[in-house]
Amino acid sequence: MLLRVGIDDTDSKENMCTTYVGAVAIERLKAHNIVAQNHPKLIRLNPNWKLKTRGNCAVAFTVKVQNHQVPLVKETVLKTVEELAELHVETTNPGVVFCQGEKIPTKLKVFSKKVVQDIVTIEEAEALAREIGAEAHKFKLGRGIIGALAAIGNTLERDWTFELIAYRTPENRGTPRKVDAASVAEMDAKTYPNTFDNLDPSTGEIRITPHTPCPILYGIRGESPERVREANELVRALEPIEHTIIYKTNQGTDEHLKKVKIAEAKPYWSIIADGAVCLAPRIITGGHVIFRIRDETGEIDCAAYEPTRQFREVVKKLIVGDRVRAYGGIKEKLELPLTINLEKLAILKLAPALRKENPKCPSCGKRMKSEGKNKGYSCKRCKIKAPAGSAKVVRLKREIDLGKFEVPPRARRHLARPLIREVHVKFPTREF
Ligand SMILES: [Zn+2]
Repeated sequence: MLLRVGIDDTDSKENMCTTYVGAVAIERLKAHNIVAQNHPKLIRLNPNWKLKTRGNCAVAFTVKVQNHQVPLVKETVLKTVEELAELHVETTNPGVVFCQGEKIPTKLKVFSKKVVQDIVTIEEAEALAREIGAEAHKFKLGRGIIGALAAIGNTLERDWTFELIAYRTPENRGTPRKVDAASVAEMDAKTYPNTFDNLDPSTGEIRITPHTPCPILYGIRGESPERVREANELVRALEPIEHTIIYKTNQGTDEHLKKVKIAEAKPYWSIIADGAVCLAPRIITGGHVIFRIRDETGEIDCAAYEPTRQFREVVKKLIVGDRVRAYGGIKEKLELPLTINLEKLAILKLAPALRKENPKCPSCGKRMKSEGKNKGYSCKRCKIKAPAGSAKVVRLKREIDLGKFEVPPRARRHLARPLIREVHVKFPTREF
């Protein structure tokens, strides 16, 4: 029979990583000749949820077992979680779910989508587990059963990517990561765009190594297991690797986004909303750029924060009347309007940038001053007047073009789909 295993919320802000707990559980089962089928899944959950740990990810895998092996699988997984999870940290509340059967129930698929796009309670998760006959194990508050169920239920049918993760040996964890930077640049040159987010194109900064004290040495994201494996061959690690694993994942797929009218937007959602710029971009303290858009239902602010760097330069050039499509997450906020934390922006239509120019003085050539509304213009020095209506409206050149723009890799959400995936990689089987 097929036994599905889901694990979530084993890490803390300081340490561990649920992908590692899953990888160790899979390794330990392998030692008993129980092999995970296909590729285990790494599922990123709602990135706006305030109770998330770091990347908010859960893992799931499926094993084919005989009835008598079921207790061994359960015991191995639960012991691994108990041993590795950051149980001493208050906000770490692991959950493990076991679910038997050939098919994934539709209700579980729907639930899974909701966990990526919205907020779900532990009570909802427990009720669903009972209904579909899944076994949910809670450690402490057990909030992790939500993500554990969601990881099992996410079938990655519309779009998916892969990530090969290399883990560090215990003695090196917490020390600076030793990976040859030149080899990463070479790997990127040879495998991009079939792998992506290896480097930040503007700074050259290596993106495959995380900056937290977690067990990951590096992770290579790409379009297929073959591509990430090839890329891995090109990376020279200057410290030992404990083991590697390839996860199939919803990273880089935009699964978190849903298209809504502005008035429908809610805190903690990630949305796609069309609108016209109604308040021009302004720069606020910290270098963040904010503008407002409107549709027939309401208004919402859009923010490009400082770490998005060059993306802000595009945003700054918008003017009132431009039609845009905004992509991004919404944080909880007390007063309206809400704010979209921009991940991407499509400029759909540019409004003409017009400037009224006062007439020039025919004698001295300087611009004449207005005498007041409908009172014409005059040059004080030459005592020459010009009638009202002699000003010209000129059309200025816009410094931006139509198109889609995205934040740089360093500011990108795990779930956000890099534009390169839409531009250069064609998948007839995948829906974008
Ligand atoms: Zn003059």
